[in-house]
Amino acid sequence: ADDIVYARSLIRTIQDYPRPGVAFRDITPLLADGRAMHATAQELLAQMPVSFDVVAGIEARGFIFAGAVAALAKTGMIPLRKAGKLPKPAYRLTYAKEYGEDQLEVSPDLKPGMRVLLIDDILATGGSLKAGADLVAAVGAEVTGIGVVLELQGLGGRSVMPQTRALFSM
Ligand code: 5GP
Repeated sequence: ADDIVYARSLIRTIQDYPRPGVAFRDITPLLADGRAMHATAQELLAQMPVSFDVVAGIEARGFIFAGAVAALAKTGMIPLRKAGKLPKPAYRLTYAKEYGEDQLEVSPDLKPGMRVLLIDDILATGGSLKAGADLVAAVGAEVTGIGVVLELQGLGGRSVMPQTRALFSM
């Protein structure tokens, strides 16, 4: 419990980045700390009551936590990637962003029927997690849990992805 309080204390706030008025939450100090990383991965896993076959992470910082959780859980990890990165994408989902469109792709390693724990670093507007969940569903796999390290309040993510479990909220 002390370790997770400590992990939270390492999230650094940078005012007016990337634009004036924005309080950017920087998780790199947490990543750099062994005790904090271990506690964060353990807690992400512990708060997921569901069973799952695989952990999927959203590019790019979602990969870090998804990989750590998968290693603890002894499952595989599936990267949900930005368009054009995978040599053999099996499925692509196009979704609307604040400015224009974006795409997420997944390799054929994600199979229909797999139970998926979906992980990202931060829930902000919820657009990224929604796209990830939609992509998993489009493959015919099942999202059985969604976890993030940090939820940002006031950006609407909670109403877009109400099933998300967040370790921290700011
Ligand atoms: P959403 O799609 O929920 O609006 O945005 C989530 C993504 O935006 C997260 O995966 C995260 O990487 C990035 N993001 C949004 N706000 C912040 C922030 O304050 N700090 C960091 N590190 N990433 C952010």
